[in-house]
This record gives sequence, structure tokens and C-alpha cells, in this order.
Amino acid sequence: MTSRSMHVVIVGAGIVGAAAAWRLASAGARVTVLEAIAPAAGATGAADGAISVATKSPGRMMRLAQAARDLYGRLAEEGPLQGLFIERPTLQFARTQDEVDVLAQHARDLAEAGEPVHPLTRAELEHLVPGIGASVHSGLAVPRDGLAIGFEVTARLLAQPGITVRRNASAQRLLIEGGRVCGVALASGPVSADRVLVAAGLGSTALLDLPEALTPRKGQMIVTDRAVSGRPAICGLLSSAAYLIGKRAAAHVPVSIGLTIDPLRTGQFLIGGTREEGREDRTTDARLVAAILAQAIDVYPPLAHRRVVRTFAGVRTASRDGLPIVGRHPAWDGVVVATGFEGDGICLGPLMGFAVADLLAEREPSVDLAPFSPARLLAERVRA
Ligand SMILES: Cc1cc2nc3c(=O)[nH]c(=O)nc-3n(C[C@H](O)[C@H](O)[C@H](O)COP(=O)(O)OP(=O)(O)OC[C@H]3O[C@@H](n4cnc5c(N)ncnc54)[C@H](O)[C@@H]3O)c2cc1C
Repeated sequence: MTSRSMHVVIVGAGIVGAAAAWRLASAGARVTVLEAIAPAAGATGAADGAISVATKSPGRMMRLAQAARDLYGRLAEEGPLQGLFIERPTLQFARTQDEVDVLAQHARDLAEAGEPVHPLTRAELEHLVPGIGASVHSGLAVPRDGLAIGFEVTARLLAQPGITVRRNASAQRLLIEGGRVCGVALASGPVSADRVLVAAGLGSTALLDLPEALTPRKGQMIVTDRAVSGRPAICGLLSSAAYLIGKRAAAHVPVSIGLTIDPLRTGQFLIGGTREEGREDRTTDARLVAAILAQAIDVYPPLAHRRVVRTFAGVRTASRDGLPIVGRHPAWDGVVVATGFEGDGICLGPLMGFAVADLLAEREPSVDLAPFSPARLLAERVRA
């Protein structure tokens, strides 16, 4: 079967499903995207937009983020994402000696991955971010990072001819015959398919007959009014060293705050956020919102003069071993999985969506997917 004669059903219209759909449709496949609610209704529509190498763990996730960010650059220059990706630095900052040490090690890890980095004294940070708080000791600039808004990227990718999006179409189960997928069951009846991609965030495990490998991790965020109009109010994303620490420890800590202050193109600030282990509701609460704001004002006192216009929460899909789950289903031919992107899926979404599209089309993906293989979950089941 060639890409041109193939019908691929994608379950989930988040950024990952949308990127896979775009890639497949561009190669001539017929693509149907089944979405339980609406495009970007999951984590993709409730996220910050850091396309950031600076916030990744060293090693494979850092290298993956570099490839993902380069892809954003290419897609914005000559592909479908024109106008949706802007390059801007991440400015990581430390307030305590522990955080200074974490940033020093992080700078070495980034440099080892070939990433340009510039250590910043407090005076240099003050110059870059006038008004920065007295508690900030020093920092690190990672100049090549960027910003893209998940729901905008998703909408643009799904607009590609050859893609049909079905809203309010919750997949109930995959239809498997003789070990091979032949369709997806909806409440309204079956949809036939030559191949199926399950990119349904938290909804993925219910469809896959794999052990419960995913856990929800809620994040609360705050949006302010505009400090200036029509441009970012400061030159880059402010991200605390505590964010790195909190992200690594999240599975073991019920609630943590990893502060980021993101200057949006509108002149507003997007301030986050919490990591709340095991929480999949999307409510916000005054206690945690107040705690985030107190830290944010300490780090950047001019925020005290801003109005809060909105709070919201999104739910990250985390895997138990911290790595995304991406690759062929270990038992069912024609089924590919892409989920578990936790707080990194806006950055990694196009790269990983393209990689799974290539798997579905029997092409060699540009990314080595072996470390992310869903087969590792079966090994876990055998050990349990
Ligand atoms: C507060 C917060 C801040 C974040 N900040 C960043 C950031 O700065 N940078 C970054 O890179 N990442 C960030 N992320 C992470 C990022 O949002 C996610 O990793 C990414 O959106 C995951 O995309 P996805 O397509 O895998 O899943 P989702 O966006 O969750 O999409 C899955 C879709 O599948 C649908 N679905 C589920 N079950 C079914 C079913 N049975 N049938 C049909 N459809 C179904 C859902 O409705 C949903 O639309 C953040 C996340 C949160 C919550």
C-alpha cells in the first residue's frame, strides 16, 4: 500500500495528532482525525508555548528538543507554521545557592549538547530585564529558544487538504482482526482504517490494552493584562532553576511550583505553574494561584501593577518512567502510539508527530524512537 491509497485514522486532535495528520496528508494519504471534544481541547489548548531546549533534562530529551526546535524554525520559514513561531531567549535564574549550583551544572549539560549558553551576572540580568527582583542572584541565557501557541499550531496543521476532522467523536475501542487493526469503534458506528495512530493524551491507555502507564499532572496558570501593546513586554521567557528541579522530582512530590513568566506577543504575561501529581480536574484554586503570584512578584516586581484577567488549568499526560511513549504497538499490526509528552509536547509535538507519520507510512523516521517504544510497557507487565 502506498501513502496515496492509505486511509489513516488518528485518535486525538492535540498537537501531536495534528502534526501526524499534516505529514500524512501532505504525502497523499487520506486522514480522518477522531476527536472526543474539539481540536486542542486537551493539554495542547491549556499550555504555555515554550519551545525550549533550556528546560529539558540532559541527554536524550535535550537533543530531541534541539531537533524539535530546528523543525519549528524550518516549518515557520518555508512550511505551514509561518508567523506562528518566534525565536526568543530563555532566561533561567537562580535565587539560592542550591539553584546557582543547579544552573551551573545545567549550563555544562547544555554546552555539552552543543547548545549556545551565556551565564548572566545579576547586573547583566538587570540590564536584560529592567526591574528584576532583588532576590534573583544570577542566571543563564539560552538564546535560540522560541515560542509557539499550541492551539494555533494545531489549527494551522489541521487545515491541510486531505484531513477530515470529526469533533465529538470519542473512540471507544480499536477494531482488531487477526492481530491487525481494521478500524475504530465510535458510539455512532465503526470507522474503517488501514492504519491507526493513537495520540489521545491521557485517553490513550484505555484504547491500547497496555498496562496503566500514564498519570495526569495538573498545571495551573495565570494570564495578566497587557503591560505594553502588540509586543512582548520583556525580551524572553523567565524560568526559575526551581522549575528544572520540580520537573525532575514531580512524580514524587504531590504539588510543586516551577515558576515561569512568559511575555506573550500581545504584551500580556502568562505565569505558571503548578505540577499536581495525579490530578486531572481543570479547576484553579486561590491558594495555589496566590502562591504562584507571590513568587512571580518577588522575581519580577513590576507584575504587582498588572491585573489578573484569567486563571486556567491544563492536564499534562506523564508516563511512569518520564519518557514519552512513541512507536508501534507491540501486539497489533498497523497501530502506532504517541503519548506521554508531559510538559514538553508543544515543543516536541511536530517532530514526534512527523516521526509517527513516517512509521505509519513505512518510512524511516528522522528520530530514533527505540527509547520511547511502547514495548517497554509490556516488559513492565511481565515484571509486575
Ligand atoms: C499548564 C501546562 C503548561 C504546559 N507548557 C508547555 C510548554 O511551555 N512547552 C511544551 O512543550 N509543552 C507544554 N505543556 C505540555 C503540552 O501541552 C502537552 O505535552 C501537549 O499538548 C500534548 O499534546 P498531545 O497531542 O499529546 O495531547 P493532548 O493535547 O492532550 O491531545 C489529546 C486529544 O485526544 C483527545 N482524546 C482523548 N481520548 C480520546 C478518545 N477516546 N477519542 C477521541 N479523542 C480523544 C482529547 O480530547 C485531546 O484533544 C504544558 C502543559 C500544561 C498542562
